[in-house]
Amino acid sequence: MIKIYNTLTRKKEPLPEPQAGKPLKVFVCGPTVYDYAHIGHARTYIFFDFLAKYLRSQGYEVEYLQNITDVDDKIIKRAAEENKTAEELSKFFTEKYLEDMETLGVDAITNYAPATKFIPQIISQVERLIEKGFAYKIDGDGWYFDISKDKEYGKLSGRTATQAEDALSRIDESINKRNKGDFCLWKFSKPNEPVWPEKNLGDGRPGWHIEDTAITEKYFGPQYDIHGGGVDLVFPHHEAEMAQQESASGLKPFVKLWIHTGVLLVEGKKMSKSLGNFITIRDFLKKYPPDVLRWITLTHHYRSPIDYSDESARQAKSAIDGTQKFLAGLEFSSKNISEDSPRGDNPIEKKTDIAFASALADDINTPTAIAHIFNAILELQPKIWTIEPDTAKSLAKYLKGKFAALGFSFKSPEIPAKAWQLASERETFRVNKQFVQSDALRKEIDSLGYVIEDTPKGPFLWPKNQI
Ligand code: AMP
Repeated sequence: MIKIYNTLTRKKEPLPEPQAGKPLKVFVCGPTVYDYAHIGHARTYIFFDFLAKYLRSQGYEVEYLQNITDVDDKIIKRAAEENKTAEELSKFFTEKYLEDMETLGVDAITNYAPATKFIPQIISQVERLIEKGFAYKIDGDGWYFDISKDKEYGKLSGRTATQAEDALSRIDESINKRNKGDFCLWKFSKPNEPVWPEKNLGDGRPGWHIEDTAITEKYFGPQYDIHGGGVDLVFPHHEAEMAQQESASGLKPFVKLWIHTGVLLVEGKKMSKSLGNFITIRDFLKKYPPDVLRWITLTHHYRSPIDYSDESARQAKSAIDGTQKFLAGLEFSSKNISEDSPRGDNPIEKKTDIAFASALADDINTPTAIAHIFNAILELQPKIWTIEPDTAKSLAKYLKGKFAALGFSFKSPEIPAKAWQLASERETFRVNKQFVQSDALRKEIDSLGYVIEDTPKGPFLWPKNQI
């Protein structure tokens, strides 16, 4: 049984068992596309990608939906600064975002839903809220949700309506609002802003929160299974979503399970361009391979904050290199074993399997699951060159499978035939105790970029820059 922490109930709750033909409906808030995606986005999206794949591996059908906020104040502002239309800017950054996700191996999403493609659904939801008395109009401004009409407003974030009113900076501002915490559903567009002609509401554009509930209502209906996003979205965004959808439909709960990832900070601070600590996924990938971001993400529990630094990336790279070297060594140790050789007896596999599975089933504890694989590696390391070849083969396949389940690609480096040939010539000199010749060849191999390790199973080569 899989248990996951629910932000709404503040408890770990069991997921219902998988049911054929009854997919889990999962929605995760997508990015606001006014800039390149950063490593904080990567943390959140790598985690939810892993979650969807993990649930599928456990027999669940998962319909994973993600919106893209492609109309928003931030987009309009940035587009004006760059002398572009909001549409041009958001189209450009949507493409870049999708490219980044592909590079990171984030590919579990079933449907991407850009907000601007769901304007009729957004309008319909705003109209229902008006009809039911939850929304009111401010002339020259827009339609607002009246939080005092929803007696349960604040139940997700644990804020009362009064506290909500204090958090002005993240809520649409208007001096004419009924309550300070009221948020905008439909904004009347100003000149040069994107505008959708609308007879009943007035020409305008959607507010931030309504796009998500309109999209999920279209795909999933008024109630669904799992809603995810970063913890920064609990208030006001997810609180507002819940208020809107439950008020519009009268059905509760809007969502059964709310999952939130912790924030990624850079050297203890929120990323910002002015602090110079804003790291886009693209910039990160100029220095490190994509597996490094996945490593950093999954070696932290998804609810914990991550304090990123260049040092943490170097350490992750070094852990990955060491793991790859170990796996390549195991494969080397099983040389000349054919695919259908009998499997070795591997109590380590059994032990690791149980521990790995129970860590993931307990609130998706990826760091503990990874620690169990490492325990296996630490146990095997001293015997790597003496393990029976068929056992080594089986273990290599098993451990690679575990890393693949976590989404790591772990490609072994291509070592050129020339280097292997030199290593074999050197081995002959070494065995014959012709150390001068053998040292000369070691140096030649070194100049090609490889180190040689003499093992009971022959010389093993590895790139110098991956140690
Ligand atoms: P945004 O583009 O800011 O609307 O964010 C899109 C998604 O990425 C949301 O789920 C955010 O919570 C998440 N996110 C943004 N910044 C960070 C960060 N620094 N750490 C973790 N998640 C983040």
